Amino acid sequence: MAPDPETSAGLGPEAKEKRDASMRRYLEANERFVRAAAGPPPFPYAERKRLGADREKALEQYYESLPRMAISRCPLCNKALYRVFDPWGLDGFWWQEKLGRAARELPACSHFRVLTGALNLNGLPTVGGREEAFPGPEVPYVVPRLLGLPAMIAVVSSIRMPNGYTAYPVTYFSNQTPKPGTLTQTWTQRSYNYQDAKGQPGSEGSHKHLVATRQNLAGRGNKDSQCKMASSQQS
Ligand SMILES: [Zn+2]
Repeated sequence: MAPDPETSAGLGPEAKEKRDASMRRYLEANERFVRAAAGPPPFPYAERKRLGADREKALEQYYESLPRMAISRCPLCNKALYRVFDPWGLDGFWWQEKLGRAARELPACSHFRVLTGALNLNGLPTVGGREEAFPGPEVPYVVPRLLGLPAMIAVVSSIRMPNGYTAYPVTYFSNQTPKPGTLTQTWTQRSYNYQDAKGQPGSEGSHKHLVATRQNLAGRGNKDSQCKMASSQQS
């Protein structure tokens, strides 16, 4: 799938370097926060707030460094769905639940409902990052319950990642707005949070996910890798 030529520098080495640099800046900002918090007291509130804001800003800049890619196409109106995506690997914060943030996305068509996905490592080592990643199962899947919703259509696409993995976005579209709480969690998240008809928050458990954890941002080797299927309830 192609990156959006208007908003992205592409997927070449320069784009990856920009992403890697923003990840380093986040890790440095995090290190400053952690060091200050672990140091001798006091850790004044103003300082905590400043270091926390620096860290969050660095994370925001990481998301801004990522390409927007045409990851799916609506079968109803034929409009491409662009989403900010980290195509370089599970070390990218995009894949990591704890560091997941809402990126600035281009508007989707009115039929777009939810993005889920799968990731096939194609037999390559799991190279993860700072936090656990939940990239989904190895083969694309659909949630039968979602397909049971009125007029729902699932579109499976694939992205060949530069590191050799294959990502499979699975995108749901429909021309009828589903009731609150009837969809599912988005890709890389284990729980589904929503507001019900009364505006009250609700949530449900996760699908099966391949879990990748590693502490090697430079991508050297994989001796600390873990890769297992987390079995949790399938909704
Ligand atoms: Zn559409």
